[in-house]
Amino acid sequence: MVEIKKDLLIIGAGPAGLGAALYSKRADLDFEIVDKQMPGGQIMNTEFIENYLGFGQRSGFELIEKFSDHCKGLGAEVKTFCPIALVELVKRGKENFFRCNIAESADHYMVRTIIVASGAYPKMLGLEGEQRLFGRGVSYCATCDGPLYRDKDVAVVGGGDTAVEEALFLAKFAKKVYIIHRRDKLRAVSILQERAFDLENVEIVWNSVLEKIVGEKKVDHILIKNVDDNKIKKIDIQGLFEYVGFGANSALVKGIVKLDANGFIITDKYMRTSCRGIYAAGDVRSTALRQVVTAVADGAVAATSIDKHLRGLI
Ligand code: NAP
Repeated sequence: MVEIKKDLLIIGAGPAGLGAALYSKRADLDFEIVDKQMPGGQIMNTEFIENYLGFGQRSGFELIEKFSDHCKGLGAEVKTFCPIALVELVKRGKENFFRCNIAESADHYMVRTIIVASGAYPKMLGLEGEQRLFGRGVSYCATCDGPLYRDKDVAVVGGGDTAVEEALFLAKFAKKVYIIHRRDKLRAVSILQERAFDLENVEIVWNSVLEKIVGEKKVDHILIKNVDDNKIKKIDIQGLFEYVGFGANSALVKGIVKLDANGFIITDKYMRTSCRGIYAAGDVRSTALRQVVTAVADGAVAATSIDKHLRGLI
């Protein structure tokens, strides 16, 4: 068993974690940044990002490569495939320490501060067939699986930025893309809505919810219900992409820090959580806007606050 002692552990190497790593390095903090897989988090599943100032249109992969290279160039390299399963609070006098257990390993970190930048996961609808047909028509990643649906019919569930953005991507390959939305207005930002309205092979099915995913070995069709008249309609599709929002990857600190009603971590303006020494940044945080730019900024604030905290300034 190895105990790795550090002043700071950054958990997650998406935009928030990498933003934190950059500022931690510049503050000369004794830290490590870990991720359960390769750096990137959710934006690795994004075909293009066009609202990160100064970068024009880039794929999620390209942007993360630039972020990682920047950190690496300063000497902050991500320890990959190092999943932190649980954080335990260890009181030593007045000081808090945190034991961060690595999943399926006896090795652990013992640190004075943590930045939880573990991001969020796509929510499921909880329908029969969702898990059974996952990878056989049901997908949560259009960027990964979109090309498999060339000249086929697919449906996207949801009306937010993610649903519409991914529908636009799928429309490049698929013969027809249905956007199934439970209301009569999309939540997505106007520019995305307009692009979707302009495409001939995108059809928005308003006021409708997914009732059933049908298929034995792969998705064959779906049944949707109109919420106004309860009428059921069958739509033949080969691919189903669900984008009905995200849940927080906050389980590792559940019980130690305060969460909001949806499980996102509550912080103050310094990114401090309710537990002294634990900070949160990015999509896992309870926040009004979840974007690459806000995640990077959260990471910068959290690292700067920790530097001040460790120096007794805040
Ligand atoms: P979101 O904004 O929470 O939207 C989720 C969508 O799913 C909503 O349209 C919602 O309907 C629908 N929905 C939720 N539960 C449902 C259910 N049980 N059955 C049917 N429909 C359901 O999630 P998101 O689109 O993934 O976006 C998450 C965050 O990331 C947002 O802050 C977004 O702005 C950001 N984001 C930004 C970009 C970008 O800037 N390019 C791209 C992707 C995501 P209602 O509208 O009726 O609530």
